[in-house]
Amino acid sequence: MNLDDFKVLISKEEIENRLCELAKEIEKDYEGKEITVVCVMRGACFFTVNLTLKIKNLIKYEFIELSSYDDKTESSGKVRIVNDLRNSIEGKDVLIVEDIIDTGRTMDFLVKYLKHKNAKSVKICTLADKPSRRVIDIKADYVGFTVPNKFIIGYGFDVDNKYRNLPYIAYLDE
Ligand code: 5GP
Repeated sequence: MNLDDFKVLISKEEIENRLCELAKEIEKDYEGKEITVVCVMRGACFFTVNLTLKIKNLIKYEFIELSSYDDKTESSGKVRIVNDLRNSIEGKDVLIVEDIIDTGRTMDFLVKYLKHKNAKSVKICTLADKPSRRVIDIKADYVGFTVPNKFIIGYGFDVDNKYRNLPYIAYLDE
């Protein structure tokens, strides 16, 4: 797979505009509250930075690295923690910031894990959503873009840890 196999799906400008809208929604819903953002590494780190720079609330950051893909374009179905949270999230209003919800397995695992760690509230903000691929019925509270059932790269999305730094989202044109 190389870059010529991909076509632009969502431009840099579209992403920027949508992030402004999401930030406003989040500020309204969390008015006066501190937010503990849990960034799901590594795909969501670009989204997390660019989104939260637009949010005025007091934000604490936690990072968790999960894996279900094993460097392939198909999910293995098993979710595991590669790097865990650093600090306790007990009693915190947690906002998970994720790159994409595909089958829903990763988010289902993470929401249960954070609730088990006694977060006060857990919400999900995802840059992309592929509802057509869902295996587990899970919905995000904030969705950047609903995308078709195509493999995407760019803006944090990778293939073999490459192309994350493309400023737009592109899809595999098969
Ligand atoms: P789920 O557990 O919902 O099936 O998968 C979530 C994870 O699969 C995401 O965090 C992401 O890392 C990966 N993933 C799902 N679809 C895509 C895609 O189209 N492109 C890339 N690069 N990763 C994807």
